[in-house]
Amino acid sequence: MVFGRISLNFMDKNAKLQNLHQKWFTACECELKNSATRPVPGTGSSEAEIVFIGEAPGKSEDKLGIPFVGAAGKFLDEMLSEIKLKRKDIYITNIVKYRPPNNRDPLPEEKASCREWLLEELKLISPKLIVFLGRHAMNNFFPAEQISKAHGKLLIKVFKGMPTKYFYALYHPAAALYNGGMREVLMDDFKKIPKILKEIEKREA
Ligand code: URA
Repeated sequence: MVFGRISLNFMDKNAKLQNLHQKWFTACECELKNSATRPVPGTGSSEAEIVFIGEAPGKSEDKLGIPFVGAAGKFLDEMLSEIKLKRKDIYITNIVKYRPPNNRDPLPEEKASCREWLLEELKLISPKLIVFLGRHAMNNFFPAEQISKAHGKLLIKVFKGMPTKYFYALYHPAAALYNGGMREVLMDDFKKIPKILKEIEKREA
């Protein structure tokens, strides 16, 4: 029965994702483990077409173990609903899985220690599009790009072992939250996501 097969595959992928996180809870050697309350793994659909990547957990995320549950997360939910999506339709994660003390920027070695965890998440989910939330996430893959120039544009690059070559950068919701001009730009860029997905489908057809 086709339905049975699809649901079994879905369960498999979900279970694999949970196993992947369990493995990294132990295997990750990030120094931030010593100061953070708990790891904050990615959440959402293992079947998502879009994966959003943020920087690192903040205070609320550290408390609950779920990414983007604070003020920036509420703003993100608002923008998702503008394009008729819910958290359960997408997957969201961070480049660093532990909260840096006092929300400082993650250090290069902290990003490096969490990199394989992120790459394994991406490979397993295999999305059509990866959306960077802010410059830190973007510069992790595109170190030479400037967010002020790259935001709102489809970036195409083949990386060895990456499941997609399509990337899209946005201003970080926390940076745009209290900055009227940036907020408007972010919302406009966000609303272009369905069009970007269609463009990818056309290119891949
Ligand atoms: N900002 C991020 O980059 N990630 C979170 O999970 C929360 C806020």
